[in-house]
Amino acid sequence: MVQKGQASIVAEEERQRRRHIVQLLELHYPGLARDLCELEFASPFQLLVATVLSAQCTDKVVNSVTRKLFGKHPDARSLATAPLKEIEVLVRPTGFYKNKSKNIVELSKALLDNFGGEVPQEMDLLTSLPGVGRKTANVVLPVAYGIPGLAVDTHVKRLSKRLGFTKWDSPDKVEIDLCSFIEPASWAETSLRLILHGRRTCKAIKPSCRECFLADLCPSYLLT
Ligand code: SF4
Repeated sequence: MVQKGQASIVAEEERQRRRHIVQLLELHYPGLARDLCELEFASPFQLLVATVLSAQCTDKVVNSVTRKLFGKHPDARSLATAPLKEIEVLVRPTGFYKNKSKNIVELSKALLDNFGGEVPQEMDLLTSLPGVGRKTANVVLPVAYGIPGLAVDTHVKRLSKRLGFTKWDSPDKVEIDLCSFIEPASWAETSLRLILHGRRTCKAIKPSCRECFLADLCPSYLLT
């Protein structure tokens, strides 16, 4: 049986391991949320639309699509009145284009009707918009407004499990587990750093464990 004293030593070692991982991520992927986000945008509205389009799509493809989309429709007023068919043609390369087109036109209308065309800064108001879930809001709030938010996408979920931060699959539960030991001021950056590490090193299939700077601290080293 683990004694009380031993348990607190184990808990402290685990706290230190997690803190060390967060520090190493910061060392290897420096910068603030705005620098780490790979989506291109010129306003909170454009970031919101780009984030909605980024579901199941790479940022590279989204950026090539939004350059054309925002060239024609840079704000909510313009996108709200755009013909749906035209938007479908423009956003088609991002996949799920019918749903995404409908959502970005509808959310533009909702922004105009309810928020004067501006993107709200509160989680509950943001997630009331068509096609905007907690993950999207947790990208927009910190990157556009500097408000703490920790987005859990497929990379964050996979790395959190491999690194022993969570046992859950539900993004909401993963978010709670991560927020329990990461400072709010680092939520957004840590999420974006985990995404970058997932894209470059800790890939879904054949992660590059031997080249990974987290190898010494990772319980999944060479196991996946
Ligand atoms: S050691 Fe392997 S499994 Fe662990 S974080 Fe690095 S790449 Fe991912």
